[in-house]
Amino acid sequence: MLITGASRGIGAEIALNAAKQNYFVVVNYARNQIEANKVVEQIEATGGNAVAIQADCSKESDIVSLFKQIDAMGTLDAFVANAGIIGGQNPITKTTEHQLKELFDINVIGLILCTREAVKRMSTELGGKGGKIVLMSSVAARTGGIAQEIHYAASKAAVDGFCLGLAKEVGLQGIRVNAVRPGLIGTSIHDIHGGIDVITKWAAGVPVGRIGMPKEVAQTVVWLCSDDASYIHGTMIDVSGGR
Ligand code: NAP
Repeated sequence: MLITGASRGIGAEIALNAAKQNYFVVVNYARNQIEANKVVEQIEATGGNAVAIQADCSKESDIVSLFKQIDAMGTLDAFVANAGIIGGQNPITKTTEHQLKELFDINVIGLILCTREAVKRMSTELGGKGGKIVLMSSVAARTGGIAQEIHYAASKAAVDGFCLGLAKEVGLQGIRVNAVRPGLIGTSIHDIHGGIDVITKWAAGVPVGRIGMPKEVAQTVVWLCSDDASYIHGTMIDVSGGR
């Protein structure tokens, strides 16, 4: 299983959970080599197999190189497009082209290019053995998200649309594709909001009264990749405490 952005947060938990299900895990990261290596060490300490590979998943050349390195290791069974950023906090009147390009390069274009490389390898029409793809969306895709982060909501809405269309395109090619839409999950992505302590106070607006843990998202992602989810395809699953 390849997980983009697996050095920390939700991606790291997906890696740990997947290793427990006996996947050989590729822990992709952009900058945080030390954290990525820690995830690999944690997996190996419990008898699992993993490798950390650096690639900036907003750059096509890095993406192509990442998948080529995986080709040398074996068959890609599952791909989780998890890497993503919020892309700053500002009203629409202060939104810049540079900011939008940086955000969409990773959250949308990079996600689509990574998925292209995964489909090329998984598609039974192209000689592959099939596979499972999970795309990381957000509840922001359907709620519009937090004020002053509507660029982020728009990028995640693009992920949902891509998921729905891709499911139609590759359903007969042995590939199951779904998206997961987390709500407020306690990770460092919320440093921009003042950290986990601050978003914990927002939990009053969550029907179950608390923020979610990365492992609660990870469990859903790994389950979607399992045969227990064999007839689930083209769906967005909310992991949001009812938000
Ligand atoms: P996080 O804690 O900020 O971790 C982000 C991860 O993405 C890191 O591993 C980071 O790698 C990686 N990354 C960032 N830019 C990258 C790039 N250009 N290429 C490759 N990797 C890159 O975020 P998170 O909260 O776990 O979020 C993971 C996903 O869930 C994102 O798509 C996010 O939008 C989505 N999500 C999160 C929440 C939430 O409340 N946490 C809610 C809804 C959706 P480095 O460590 O190397 O920088």
